[in-house]
Amino acid sequence: MNPRLSLLTVALLAATTSLAQTKKTAASFPEQRIPQAESEAHMRFLAADELQGRRTGSIGNQIAARYIAEQYRLMGLKPVTGQADFYQRIALERVGMASSGVFVTGNDSLKLGKDLVIMAGGPVDLSGEVVYAGYGLGDAEDGYNGRDVKGRIVVVQGGSPEAKGPQEIFRASNQKRKLAAEKGAAALVELYSESIPWGMVGQYFNREQIALPVAGVNAPLTHAWINNTNNKFGRLKEVGQRVVFRTSGRPKTAAPSMNVAGLIEGTDPTLKNEYVIVSAHFDHIGVGKQGGNAYSPSDSIFNGARDNAFGTVGLLTAAKALIEQRPKRSVLVLALTGEEVGLLGSRYYAENPLLPLKQTIFNLNIDGAGYNDTTIVSVIGLERTGAKAEIEAGARAFGLGVFAEPAPEQGLFDRSDNVSFAAKGVPAPTFSPGFKSFDADIAKYYHQAIDNPESLDFGYLHKFCQAYAHTARLIADRPTRPFWIAGDKYEAVGKELYK
Ligand SMILES: [Zn+2]
Repeated sequence: MNPRLSLLTVALLAATTSLAQTKKTAASFPEQRIPQAESEAHMRFLAADELQGRRTGSIGNQIAARYIAEQYRLMGLKPVTGQADFYQRIALERVGMASSGVFVTGNDSLKLGKDLVIMAGGPVDLSGEVVYAGYGLGDAEDGYNGRDVKGRIVVVQGGSPEAKGPQEIFRASNQKRKLAAEKGAAALVELYSESIPWGMVGQYFNREQIALPVAGVNAPLTHAWINNTNNKFGRLKEVGQRVVFRTSGRPKTAAPSMNVAGLIEGTDPTLKNEYVIVSAHFDHIGVGKQGGNAYSPSDSIFNGARDNAFGTVGLLTAAKALIEQRPKRSVLVLALTGEEVGLLGSRYYAENPLLPLKQTIFNLNIDGAGYNDTTIVSVIGLERTGAKAEIEAGARAFGLGVFAEPAPEQGLFDRSDNVSFAAKGVPAPTFSPGFKSFDADIAKYYHQAIDNPESLDFGYLHKFCQAYAHTARLIADRPTRPFWIAGDKYEAVGKELYK
């Protein structure tokens, strides 16, 4: 007997058995009956070229939000009590690129995009002696130290004595801008020589950004970083240094966007006061050079079919299944904007929750870069909360296995919207299309113009969405709340939240 055939027989038998079990476990739920055409239709709309890559604040992004809201209406979801509609509006702003800039010191003329990056602020045309203020983070000796900087160009050291990672470097930079503005400086210039390579800094900041205005931090002070690798411009720390600094500054315009939130009321008189948030981001990175990756005239739209129309379809599938047969706990269906531009939608929600966070017992997020294994779902944080059994049962009901913690080196748990909830203490794993490592098959589509719906396995998309819906149901029906496992880095903040 052919060994391959015998394997095939075993595989066929196994498939038949698992199909029979599937029917037994999930046949009575609406998620079993939703036709594949629905997932496909949602996907083909959300990832369509007409939506131009759904960049946060763009018309395409707002059309996606409108589509999601009207699907909620059609399904029978309700806005959260006190909300006029399904939108949680966020007044984001678009900060354009500086179109010109030059910084002259001695015989060196630093050019925009090469050794000079404009971080923020309006146009300036300044010349004069600079004031060096250490790290520019306070009034101590290694800071302003009593110097009067009103109307002056302030030069400071990049980073801070403690800052190591990008987040800390940017946070310190924002603090410096705020303080320099408070002190009445005319401009702030940082001598940058930190751990993130200068090339990446330039690439990131020499393009449009979408930002959440933060009081004080977005003061109109003009703020630049100059490339001080090898202490090339260390002389600017000395007294009597004269410079010329001219730039167009960065133009700001409103880029309103919104999270889309619909409520499904639980059936249990007590448990309905507890909320499970199902979430997925619906924004993507836009079109042409907004995408930050290669594109061609024939395909310049970053459709984001996998990232994250895929998850948005999962969210709509869960909404449809859960409203049709409601679970014991209430479920907030939350489509998030602004993920690609810094998790802005989820951060905004976590700071301005529509429902009390202490009654929000779980967040089951979906996000992903793509998939290369259609026999599994991958779950980032599977082992970190008490909902492992529900996640595995939810996937199993649709013939899918679960792979825990794919690509650990990528630090994915802290790179998607789930972390905005986790940081507040809410247990929050991310459900992801099947992959085990971030290999060439994933990179092929991740943030690339070819991530379009035509290249999808719609059968897998549908099963994935059904598995997600069923998992959400099992969690919302659990008699007890799933919490962080002991020793998790978010356990303490979780205890604090729920007391
Ligand atoms: Zn993405």
